[in-house]
Amino acid sequence: MQDKTMVNIAKKQFDLSFSMIDNFEDEYMWKYWELQRAQWSNYFEGGNLDLSKFDLEIYKIAKKFNGKVSQEDRRDRVASLIIIKDLVEKNPLVSNLRNKLDSIDNYTKNMSKDIKENNMIYNLALANEMKEDVLELINIRNHLSTELGFSSYPDLILSAEEIDRSNLINLLNDFVEKNLNKARKIIEKYNISWDNWFNDLYKIGSTININYNPLELIKLLISAFGFEKVEERIQINFSEEGYSGYAAQFSSNDIRIVVEPLKSLNNINTLFHELGHAISYALNEEQGVFKILPCSYDEAMAVVMEYLAPMILLSREEQEKVYEVATLEYVRCAISSLYEFDLWKNPEKAEELYVKHYSKLGIKIDTPSIWTLDTFRSIDPVYIHNYVIGATLAEKIISLFEREMPSKYKHWGEWLFNSVYINGRCEPLRKKIKILGDLI
Ligand SMILES: [Zn+2]
Repeated sequence: MQDKTMVNIAKKQFDLSFSMIDNFEDEYMWKYWELQRAQWSNYFEGGNLDLSKFDLEIYKIAKKFNGKVSQEDRRDRVASLIIIKDLVEKNPLVSNLRNKLDSIDNYTKNMSKDIKENNMIYNLALANEMKEDVLELINIRNHLSTELGFSSYPDLILSAEEIDRSNLINLLNDFVEKNLNKARKIIEKYNISWDNWFNDLYKIGSTININYNPLELIKLLISAFGFEKVEERIQINFSEEGYSGYAAQFSSNDIRIVVEPLKSLNNINTLFHELGHAISYALNEEQGVFKILPCSYDEAMAVVMEYLAPMILLSREEQEKVYEVATLEYVRCAISSLYEFDLWKNPEKAEELYVKHYSKLGIKIDTPSIWTLDTFRSIDPVYIHNYVIGATLAEKIISLFEREMPSKYKHWGEWLFNSVYINGRCEPLRKKIKILGDLI
C-alpha cells in the first residue's frame, strides 16, 4: 500500500514538473520572441519601445519558475540555466542601469560645445561621466550573482553558458601567445594606433577594390555547403547607417540579417559573420528552449563562418587581408577578455589593469580612463571571449577539414550540420566539439 502511494506521489511530481517546463516554455518563448522583435523595431524601423518593460516581464517569468523546474532532463536543465541568467540580467536594477548606459545622450546633456567638438576630449569626458554607473553595474551584477550562490558574476555567466573557466582561460592565453607576434607585425605594417583602432582596421580592408554582388555571394556559399533549404527562411536587408551588421530570429522561418552594402572587404566579412548567425538559427531543428542558442555557440559559429566562407569565395589576396584583420580583431578580443576577468576581481584597479593588458599589443596607451566607454564592460559584459572561442574553433575545424575532406565543401556542410547545427541547445557546445579537444 505504502509503496503504491509512493509511486503515485512520484508520478504526480513527475507530471507536475513535466507540465512546469511546458508552462515555462509557453510563457517564456512568447516573451523572448517579442523582445527580439522589439529590439529590431527600435534599431531598424524607427521604433521607440521601452525595452526595460520587456526585460521586466521576462524577469517576472524567471522569478515565477525559479526552483520550480526540475533537473530531470536536458530541457529542464537548459530552462534552469536561462532562468539563472535572467534573474540577474533582467533584474530591474541591472536592466535600468544597462539601458541607461546604452544611450549616450544620458551622459552628454551638460557638455559644452567646445568639448563635443574635440573627439579625444569628448571621449575622455564621456568616459568620466559614465564611470560611476559602470562601476555600480559591476557591483550590482556581482552582488545578485553571489545571492544566487555563485562566487561572482563571471562565474554565473560561464555556468549558464556551460563553459569551464580554466579551459576558457587556457584558450584565451593560448590564442594570445600564438598570435601576438603576428598581430604586432600587422600593427606595424599598417601603422595602427590605439585611439583610431577600428578605423585603421577598416583601412586594411579598403586597400583592395572589390566588386561582389552580396546576394550572389550568399547563394554561392549556401549552395557550396548544401544548405539550400535555409534560403527561404533568411531575409537579407541592407542599411547604410548605424549597424555594420545585425542578425535576429523571430521564429523558425523568420530570420533576418542587416548588413551594409558591400563597399570593402570588411563589409564582406560582416556579411559572412551575420550569415553565420542566421545559418545557425535556420538549421536548428529543435523547438522551445533548445531554439535559444547560448551566446558562446551563437557568436562562435558566426566567427567560424568568417573564416570558412573566404576559403570558398574569395581570392588568395583577399583572403590574406581578411585573415590579417581577423588576427588583429581577435587578439584584441582575447586580451580584452583576460582584462575583463581581472577587472571583475579588482574594479578599483581598472585603469592600471587596462594599461597592463593592452600594452601587450606594443601600442602606447595614454588614456586608460577610456575603459568605461568600452561597451563590453557594461552593455555586453563577460561576452567578448565568445569571439575568441570562435576564432580558435575555426582554426581547429579548418585543420580537420583540410586533413580529412580538403575542398569538399558539401562534406564540410554535412559535418557542420550533423555535429553542431542540427540539435541547437539540446547538447552543450563543448560536447558537440569534443572531437576537436577540450576547448571550453
Ligand atoms: Zn555576431
